[in-house]
Amino acid sequence: MPRFVIQKHDATNLHYDFRLETDGILKSWTIPKGPTTHPSEKRLAILTEDHPTDYIDFEGSIPKDQYGGGTVIVWDGGTYRNLRKEKEGDGLSLAESFDDGKVEVWLEGKKLKGGYVLIRTGKKDSDQWLFIKMKDDEVDARRNPINTESKSILSGKTIEEIKKEV
Ligand code: MN
Repeated sequence: MPRFVIQKHDATNLHYDFRLETDGILKSWTIPKGPTTHPSEKRLAILTEDHPTDYIDFEGSIPKDQYGGGTVIVWDGGTYRNLRKEKEGDGLSLAESFDDGKVEVWLEGKKLKGGYVLIRTGKKDSDQWLFIKMKDDEVDARRNPINTESKSILSGKTIEEIKKEV
């Protein structure tokens, strides 16, 4: 099963980086406001550079003058399934779904579970996407994990605790 990760990244602006393991890289989007468990809250997701697969468990501080300078924790992660691949009459690979501007995944994370869709907005070369919870049994309007579950799933530390270790 391919893996996904969501890294909380305190750089110039605090944001969340959502990455899907596919074709030997991590396809990556930045979600400024972070993910949600509510289908009605559509979150902007900006397509960013592919990252090497071994970045999937990176946690620590990057010097301020380097790309991505700031502190990173592995906020969530686990495995995912490509829902479009499983759909009869659709069957698109992740790369094909990406080209089509609509990626549907089932996440099995520690914090996030269930279906999520990434939809490209605007033209084909647009880097603006939306990250939306699909309607399924994992919807939970009472949860707000970016506020209530702020610790790393790897170290159990908050981003502030990692920052102090430098
Ligand atoms: Mn980032």
